[in-house]
Amino acid sequence: MNQRMYELGSKRSVIREIFEFGKSRAAQIGAENVYDFSLGNPSVAPPQIVEDTLIELLRSDNPTAMHGYTSAQGDASVRGAIAEYIAKTHGVECDPSFLYMTCGAAASLTITLSALCNRGDEVITFAPYFTEYKVFAETAGAKLIALASDPETFQIDFNLLEGAIGKNTAAILVNSPNNPSGVVYNEQTIRKLAEMLCKKSKEYGKTIYLITDEPYRELVYGGVEVPYLTKYYPHTIVCYSYSKSLSLPGERIGYIFVNPKAERAKELYLAVCGAGRALGYVCAPSLFQKMVAKCQGITSDVSIYEKNRNLLADALRKFGYQCVQPDGAFYLFVRALEEDANAFCERAKKYNLLLVPGDDFGCKGYVRIAYCVSTEMIQRALPSFEKLANEYKK
Ligand code: PLP
Repeated sequence: MNQRMYELGSKRSVIREIFEFGKSRAAQIGAENVYDFSLGNPSVAPPQIVEDTLIELLRSDNPTAMHGYTSAQGDASVRGAIAEYIAKTHGVECDPSFLYMTCGAAASLTITLSALCNRGDEVITFAPYFTEYKVFAETAGAKLIALASDPETFQIDFNLLEGAIGKNTAAILVNSPNNPSGVVYNEQTIRKLAEMLCKKSKEYGKTIYLITDEPYRELVYGGVEVPYLTKYYPHTIVCYSYSKSLSLPGERIGYIFVNPKAERAKELYLAVCGAGRALGYVCAPSLFQKMVAKCQGITSDVSIYEKNRNLLADALRKFGYQCVQPDGAFYLFVRALEEDANAFCERAKKYNLLLVPGDDFGCKGYVRIAYCVSTEMIQRALPSFEKLANEYKK
C-alpha cells in the first residue's frame, strides 16, 4: 500500500480527534455538559428555500434526469445560473465555460492544486491556515510554504512574502474570511498582494497564480466587505463552497471559477477538468447542483454567528483572554494562557471545554474556538471559560 496514504488514514486530524473525544465524554456525562467548540459544523439551519427547492426538484416529473449524471464539469444550466450571479454581484466577467462544479471547497482546492502544480512546485499560504492545505498541496506534488502573519493583526506580512516568492512558486493560496482567525483581507491588502504578484511574476518570467479559498465569503459582520479577487488580479482561481453559506457541509457542493482573463485560462480550465477526472471528482452531486442554482445570493441566518461572536469575544476578553476581533467566518483564534496550547487544551477539558490547539493551523500558542454552536451553549460555557482563566491567575 501507499505509505503516505496509510499514514494520513491512520492518524486522525486533531480536530476530528477532539470531536470524537467530545462524543465519548457526552455519553458519560450528558451532551448538555460538554462544550464542544471543535468543529466548523454550522449550527444555523439552512434557509427554508433549500428544503422547498429540494422538494420541488424531487417531485419533478423526470427523476432519472434529476438523479442522473450531469456533464463532468457540472450541469450547463447550473453553471449558467452561477456565472450570471457572479457577474451581476461582483461586476466581473464570468462565463459558465470557466466554472467547474465540485464536492465542496476541499475538492475545489485539491483539483485546483493538482491542475496547477508540478512536482517541486511551491504553494505559499499564510499562517494560521486551514489544516488540510498541507495534505492537499502535497497530494498535488507541491510543497506548502506557510508564512507567519503579522502577530498583532493576522494580516499578510509583505516583507516575508517578498522574500518567500521564488522561481518554484506556482501559486499563493489565500483564505479570507479566514479559518481559524476570522480575519478578512481588505481592499488595500488585496491591491498590495496583486501588485507584488505582478512584480514577482515579471521578475521570474512566469505567471504566479492566486488561489482564493472562499467558503466563508458571506459570513462577515458589521458591514465588512470581502473584495472579489478576480477584479484585482487576473490570474485568480476561486474555490467556492456552499458548505457554510447555506449550512450544507454534508452535501458536498461547491465550484471552481477560473478567471477567463487569467494567463492561459482555457488551458488552465482544461487542466481543472483533467484533475477532476484524475481524482474521480467528476459530476458533483446532481440534486444539489440543481438546488444551489436556485439559491444564488441566499444564505443561512448569519446574524446568529455575529451574535455568538459578540457574546463570546466580549466575555473572553473580560476574563483576560486575548484575540484579534474576527470580522468573518465563525472562529475565534485565542491566545492560550500558557505557552503550550496542547497543554492548555488538555486543561480546558477538565471544564469540559473542547478547544483545538493552533499548532496544526501553523500557529503555536493559540487555540481555535468554533462559535458556530448554539448561543445558549455559549452562555452555559462562559463560567467554565472564566474558571479556566482563573486557574492561571492563581
Ligand atoms: N477551506 C476552509 C478554510 C475550510 O474551513 C473548510 C472547511 O471547514 C474547507 C476549505 C473545506 O470545505 P468543504 O466542507 O466545503 O469541503
